[in-house]
Amino acid sequence: MPGETPMNCEDVRIRLLDYQRGRLTLPAQAEVRTHLNGCADCTRADAVEQELTSVLEHRLPQHPASLALRRRLAAEWPASATERSWWSRWKPSLVPAVAAAAVVLVAAPVLYYERAASRVASERAGMVAEAVNDHLRVLSSQHPLDIESGGLHQVKPWFEGRLDFAPVVPFEGDADFPLKGGAVGYFRDRKAAVFVYARRLHPISLLVFRADGLAWPARDLTRIGPVETHATAERGFNVIMWRRGELGYALVSDVDARELGRLAARMTASP
Ligand SMILES: [Zn+2]
Repeated sequence: MPGETPMNCEDVRIRLLDYQRGRLTLPAQAEVRTHLNGCADCTRADAVEQELTSVLEHRLPQHPASLALRRRLAAEWPASATERSWWSRWKPSLVPAVAAAAVVLVAAPVLYYERAASRVASERAGMVAEAVNDHLRVLSSQHPLDIESGGLHQVKPWFEGRLDFAPVVPFEGDADFPLKGGAVGYFRDRKAAVFVYARRLHPISLLVFRADGLAWPARDLTRIGPVETHATAERGFNVIMWRRGELGYALVSDVDARELGRLAARMTASP
């Protein structure tokens, strides 16, 4: 458009994934390319985003891969003085970019299944895949948490104004499963509150999001307290999902299924 200022770094970051997939208009595509040619920070972000996408697309081995993934990404990111500023500048544009990538990755396999029944099944599998991808995104970030936890009383108000719903957080953490912090993420097409707990050295992500319009599993349900949950495993991660009222919950971690079930029981215990 005439009279518009050239794209700044933020403009470029939120368009990176569309740029990588050639989905921008030709002028916008050219403008991003010009900016990348002259901006080392954005070029680096471009490379990291491609790497993350490639890690997710080629799926991870059937083994808890969080540490390997972290190491690999850390190796490609020499620890330098720019680390913090890189993150703080990149972070705002990372979240929507991640969401876009995740939606594309989940949506792509759906195209292969034309029949309604298999489409529903595949959407359901997509929800699990999405939950695992979101967890991996949190792990692969150098500074994964937008807020380090001083407890739920700090994390909860922080979300106000950052989400289009009020996340109901069912568990404030305890000695077994301390709450480490929170971040805003995405689950498919919607925003999600991400709470990160820990079990010893294992991070555990809890995604909270609006439950409507998703293909919730109707079979293979396990009752935990007052709710029906769907427990499954993918790529070495255990996933437990449930919905309660307007909200959906997805718990993801490489801790064993029994431990994750214990945490789910604490989360679903409150009325
Ligand atoms: Zn830039």
